[in-house]
Amino acid sequence: MKLVCVGRNYAKHAEELRNEVPAEPVLFIKPDSALLPPGHDFYLPDLDSAIHYEAELVVRIDKPAKHVEERFAHRYYSQVTVGLDFTARDLQQRLKEKVLPWEKAKSFDGAAFLGAWQALGELKNWPQTSFQLFKNKTLVQQGKSEHMLHGVDRLIAYISRFFTLKTGDLIFTGTPAGVGPLAIGDHLSLY
Ligand code: ZN
Repeated sequence: MKLVCVGRNYAKHAEELRNEVPAEPVLFIKPDSALLPPGHDFYLPDLDSAIHYEAELVVRIDKPAKHVEERFAHRYYSQVTVGLDFTARDLQQRLKEKVLPWEKAKSFDGAAFLGAWQALGELKNWPQTSFQLFKNKTLVQQGKSEHMLHGVDRLIAYISRFFTLKTGDLIFTGTPAGVGPLAIGDHLSLY
């Protein structure tokens, strides 16, 4: 199982990190070892870097997908949740400056968290939905799916041109503005 993650999928988040808004989705992959086991606390890794939270909508692939057309992409997923894409931000910045791959900053053990799955059929307005992240009871991120530069169906079409998606693969669809650093003892709540 792999986690396919999308970077810069909300214009305001690209802006806050002073990144260009890309014409095509920016993709990177986390291995399954990056997934924080259910019920485990997240430990800040010793990577000489601030660790940022990124709250994101996540969908799970239901059946193998390769070269899927956007208009058929909705047949390949039926559940959504909110997850966290933990990022070693300073390390990522150092790698970006040297034009090196970001994996070390994104794919370390525990660098991905998943909330509880929700059937799309139970969501009133899907594909429109909203999500929130609270840090120590303060609202820090608020996203709306309609603000994604590339929606889930287009992402599945695009991703499946490059990588075969297998049953159980996860797509992290990018984070809205408001990312920030974590300190020991911080408590995160996702809705
Ligand atoms: Zn992210």
